[in-house]
Amino acid sequence: MAEIKVRVRFAPSPTGDLHVGNIRTALFDWAYARHTGGTFIFRIEDTDTTRVTDEYITAAIDTLRWLGLQWDEGPEVGGNFGPYLQSQRLDLYSHWAQKFLDQKDAYYCFCTAEELEARREAQRAANVAPGYDGQCRNLSDDQIATFRAQGRSPVIRMRMPDGHTTFVDQIRGELSFDHKFVPDFVLVRGDGSPLYTLAVAVDDVLMKVTHILRGEDLLSSTPRQIRVYQAMGLKDEEFPTFAHLPFVMGQDNAKLSKRNGEVSIAWYREAGFLPEAICNYLALLGWSPGEDRENITMKELTELFTVERVNSSPARFDMKKLEAINGDKIRALSVEEFLNWSLPFLKKSDVITGTDEEIALVRAALPIIQERITKLSEIPGMLKFLFVKDFYVELESISKVTDSDSKEVLRRTLDELTPLRDWTHSSIEAALRSSLIERMGLKPRVAFGSVRIAVTGSTVSPPLFESMELLGKKVCLERISSALTL
Ligand code: GLU
Repeated sequence: MAEIKVRVRFAPSPTGDLHVGNIRTALFDWAYARHTGGTFIFRIEDTDTTRVTDEYITAAIDTLRWLGLQWDEGPEVGGNFGPYLQSQRLDLYSHWAQKFLDQKDAYYCFCTAEELEARREAQRAANVAPGYDGQCRNLSDDQIATFRAQGRSPVIRMRMPDGHTTFVDQIRGELSFDHKFVPDFVLVRGDGSPLYTLAVAVDDVLMKVTHILRGEDLLSSTPRQIRVYQAMGLKDEEFPTFAHLPFVMGQDNAKLSKRNGEVSIAWYREAGFLPEAICNYLALLGWSPGEDRENITMKELTELFTVERVNSSPARFDMKKLEAINGDKIRALSVEEFLNWSLPFLKKSDVITGTDEEIALVRAALPIIQERITKLSEIPGMLKFLFVKDFYVELESISKVTDSDSKEVLRRTLDELTPLRDWTHSSIEAALRSSLIERMGLKPRVAFGSVRIAVTGSTVSPPLFESMELLGKKVCLERISSALTL
């Protein structure tokens, strides 16, 4: 048998910013496509126009690009099976819905929302599984004409035959759904708009998708999708292969949810996580290359990824681990890469405007903070002392430079550094060590703490002597003198 050419799709409904779960799915879809030499399709499921906005669609496209998950077919890049926005494919869904009606796989249902609710209430009271009771399954032409004359606009419902749907999920093994619990479902609303189950299944068939890797929240819709494939004339062996990925849980073992701000990828981006770190972390969340490891590159992921190695139990999200990986990825950046990642953060927080002179100073300063940060958003706070025009000592630190011991430290520092000619971090350090530690007998933390506050304005800064070298002699001495006047 000829090898099938793998086609996988990532098909979000952007009703908000993409979240951790979506991105883990996208990453696995992408990795599977790359591993198999297949095609990665990006499709936007935007038929729910009340919840999906253009802004969220644009953001989803931007997020996927930012993560480096290049798609082979989809928005902006096109492809032979487009368009890739469902809102541009409505005619196709109508065509198939009509065909299902003609084939008697589907039927018009005129039940109103109130009637359905009343009957559901009765089902609940009788302890019967809730769901459509088949009332409109076999309407005569006359009955249909009467309903239409009453001005009712029907939905189109798929007929679910008695029996079971059984399929093999690549992660969960064989699964079987009894149709008693899969009632006839709506394909098209009264206003003619398609529902998810129709659109997703039609598109997966028309786009020749071979593998569907997606979140397990969609597992229950799989028998309905299979029903649509059947109505489209597909044979069992032509169905895509399903793999439902386990949930990503929060640290408290509750499901990560949109309500939690730390779910949205936009949040991680703003907080200064690198895309490689997010992908690295999410890749190893629920999947393993077969050995215990914390770091993986995108290239290794594409080489090693197989669905068999996806863990079938839920994965637990661990922010500390992600931060540690982010720190590793930051340290692995070249100075120029680190500079490019840093500049937007420094500009956004108004630490620099972006002049050549400022950029040169940032470039010189970055190596001293590269070891110390776990998120890019820490950079402005770390480097602002180099750029502030109106320097001041942070309110909460003032008392730490105004007591008499600190004043003495600062006076000695000034005396020691004023004549210093060679303004390098090692000579500054040597001078201050001999004066403050050896001669005054102070503990380094106490002595250098005061100097740090005087020159950087804060108790948190990059290494002191390197900071002083970068800041320059004139500015350091000015700041120490002015701290003495506080
Ligand atoms: N559009 C669906 C969602 O975002 C996913 C479709 C699918 O992967 O089957 O929930």
